[in-house]
Amino acid sequence: MMSRLERLRALMHQQQLDGVIISKPENRVYFSGFTGSSGVLLVSGAENRLITDFRYLEQAEAEAPEFIVIRHGSDQNPTLKMEIDIMGLKRVGFEGDFYTWDAYRRLTEVAAEPVAVHLDELRIAKDAQEIALVRQAVLLADKAFTHVLSYIKPGVRENDIALELEFHMRKNGAEKIAFDIIVASGKRSALPHGRASAKIIEVGDMITMDFGAVYQGYHSDITRTVIVGRASAKQREVYNLVLTAQLAGVAAVAPGITGREVDAAAREIITAAGYGEYFGHGLGHGVGLVIHEQPRLAPGSEIILSPGMVVTVEPGVYLPDWGGVRIEDTVVVAAAGAEVLTASSKELFELDL
Ligand code: ZN
Ligand code: ZN
Repeated sequence: MMSRLERLRALMHQQQLDGVIISKPENRVYFSGFTGSSGVLLVSGAENRLITDFRYLEQAEAEAPEFIVIRHGSDQNPTLKMEIDIMGLKRVGFEGDFYTWDAYRRLTEVAAEPVAVHLDELRIAKDAQEIALVRQAVLLADKAFTHVLSYIKPGVRENDIALELEFHMRKNGAEKIAFDIIVASGKRSALPHGRASAKIIEVGDMITMDFGAVYQGYHSDITRTVIVGRASAKQREVYNLVLTAQLAGVAAVAPGITGREVDAAAREIITAAGYGEYFGHGLGHGVGLVIHEQPRLAPGSEIILSPGMVVTVEPGVYLPDWGGVRIEDTVVVAAAGAEVLTASSKELFELDL
């Protein structure tokens, strides 16, 4: 298998680039190993340079052994320009989806012929090492979910549940949470992205919890919906519908299928039950060094799944002024189909009072 830098060079060759500048934090760490928050990579056909400031020199040397580390002063651009000139690079790629207008204008003074390139696609299929890290991040979220089930009770606030999830994940080795934790209870569960609030949990509430851990840069993403007490007939009906759709979505994940087709496998079930208009988002998204990345599983996504991609499968039904259900797993596209990393049960959980 080609190394990350070899695949980068293949892309450079294909696009006839003399070099490429890498500034996006996730791409910087992916190609160099350098986890510092400031710095830029300059890769040519034969050389790898990492330009950073004095705060990160030691760390860069240690984390990016394939790169020559160069220190810049108060502004990285003069150093970058000098290196580009020394290396004699003309056509130089940069991440067009990352630069601001101002940064681009400054770049035109650094590189004679800047060419926008998309490097994210090189990260889309994960290698075994990356999947192992996602697996750890998933495990941390699974453990936090199990833990929080014994914490939830009428009278606690959504914020308390979010804090408990975060504390548990970080205490057990997560470097941080993957995104602001969603805890949406009762009628608030109709908000697909209802951030945890001061609302107090009551008997009969459905609680949607959407959260994840970051482990060595890699993210996990899980959603579970639980009931405080016994589920009503309607709660059970909506829950079972979303679960059936989620299982169908997972079953559809396989190499060779498009993001649109996986989405449709789950969406058809919800639509056939008459709830199509209440499933207003895509079925899932890629997850890795970034919480939301390619491939999207959504209507219109023609991207073809291949082994090593890591995606979420997360259908939901949200009924205004009533509540909502979402169920989400993190899944690897394997040669034989989906490998579900998330281990938390999807049986309807009715909290004992
Ligand atoms: Zn999520
Ligand atoms: Zn998600």
